[in-house]
Amino acid sequence: MPHFEGDIEKIGMEESSSPQSSSSAVHELERDAAEASSPPAVGVHDAANLNDMNDNDDRQFEFEEFTEEEIEAAATSVPESRPSVNIPPHSAIQSAGPGATPELMEMFYQRLFPFKALFQWLNHFPSPTSSFTNREIAFTLQNDAYLRYQSFPTYDAMKKEVIRLNPSRFEIGPVYSANPRDRKIVRKAAFRPLEKELVFDIDMTDYDEIRTCCSGTKICNKCWNFITVAIKVLDVALRVDFGFKHVLWVYSGRRGAHAWVCDKRARELDDAKRRAVASYLELVRGGAQSNKKVNLKRPLHPMVTRSLNILRESFSSTILVDQDPWRAPEHVDKLLKLLPDKALNQELKKRWETTSDQSSASKWADIDSLAQQGVSKSLDAKELKEAKQDVVLEYLYPRLDAEVSKHLNHLLKSPFCIHPGTGRVCVPINSARPETFDPMDVPTVSQLIDEIDEYDATHGTSESSEKLADYEKTSLKPYVEYFHRFVSDLMKEEMKEKRQLDQENGESLDF
Ligand SMILES: [Zn+2]
Repeated sequence: MPHFEGDIEKIGMEESSSPQSSSSAVHELERDAAEASSPPAVGVHDAANLNDMNDNDDRQFEFEEFTEEEIEAAATSVPESRPSVNIPPHSAIQSAGPGATPELMEMFYQRLFPFKALFQWLNHFPSPTSSFTNREIAFTLQNDAYLRYQSFPTYDAMKKEVIRLNPSRFEIGPVYSANPRDRKIVRKAAFRPLEKELVFDIDMTDYDEIRTCCSGTKICNKCWNFITVAIKVLDVALRVDFGFKHVLWVYSGRRGAHAWVCDKRARELDDAKRRAVASYLELVRGGAQSNKKVNLKRPLHPMVTRSLNILRESFSSTILVDQDPWRAPEHVDKLLKLLPDKALNQELKKRWETTSDQSSASKWADIDSLAQQGVSKSLDAKELKEAKQDVVLEYLYPRLDAEVSKHLNHLLKSPFCIHPGTGRVCVPINSARPETFDPMDVPTVSQLIDEIDEYDATHGTSESSEKLADYEKTSLKPYVEYFHRFVSDLMKEEMKEKRQLDQENGESLDF
């Protein structure tokens, strides 16, 4: 990442670099109002902290204020030699690895980012409403500075500013009661967050203690199954238990996924209701140290029973075969700790000690076979069955970063941004078929720019190719089309509701 070396002051490094809860963001709002008259300053994240940020790429950060000149300086600190639409020298792309160079980012914003669809998604109507114009957009610039409280009258204005600032990514915040740019000139009470999509974050970090195939920022198709299963379980809960219809799942660009629940009812939830939804969905709790993370009363809640049925389908393949967590003799205690009967556990331990290479699937089968042989006089079959259910839940039930969901004013990275570490686009995931999504297949920004170039080279400037939008020439096409359909469904419903409301109001006026 390029570092800004101008005369912009570095302030509040520690504070600004640590992810914080939104409750402290509320305090920041208050402090912001109190400090409205003090000179604004620019904060710069250091490289190490930026890496953290890229991973937990959906946290809320301390905000800093910028003057127009400082924004200008930051934007122009990006190398001057930016070809506007030409392919940069290949060496430039290679030196950036899979990540995105500022040159590639600018081309991506100019030619591929679906600004109009993003606007319609946030706005819900064809022409701008306060849902878009009072919506906070926060930019992370190429020099790592973080720019909050931006807002735009139209998608075209947003597109122009994004191309000018060329941020490494941007986040979407709530719709405020006033234009976020005016927050210092309106009364404090007149500036408050009104609505935002209900969001969820699933990140592989929360699976690090149970996944065995990869660690750190790495992922593979085996561990991606944790995310696939999580999407299945949460998606059905949101639709069936809460009646939401417009749930958009988005790849976070590296090793996780975000859900955006866009129904009007969801957008209008206050923090208390968001907390309630999050805690309803959160079953697996406790840090790496606690032995048992699932503690459920019986009979099971119907939501848990349904989730278990979904999880059971993948437990054998995802956990027993792919992760194989209890194969090594030193790992069997992890499993035994979750089983209730001492005598049975002793017999299992004895059997597993004699084999140095027994698969987890075979060990899992041993539990029932030894239990049926009557090795324990005290065995409670029902208790054992419930403990095994808890093991399935502990290993496979979605692990939510619930803090992200609890606050109306939490910012979350926009769909179709580029992940700075991988260069991959944060594309939507089809929630009807999450198992068909392969994160390794998601195009990178450099790949997409190459694809446009290749398409133009093979098709020339024929009339038919000129009619195509650039995204249609690339592997981004199915993702953009999926997003278009999602947005169109959402807009149709909002417009229908509005017509009904207008009609009702019209009738009451007539009366
Ligand atoms: Zn893996």
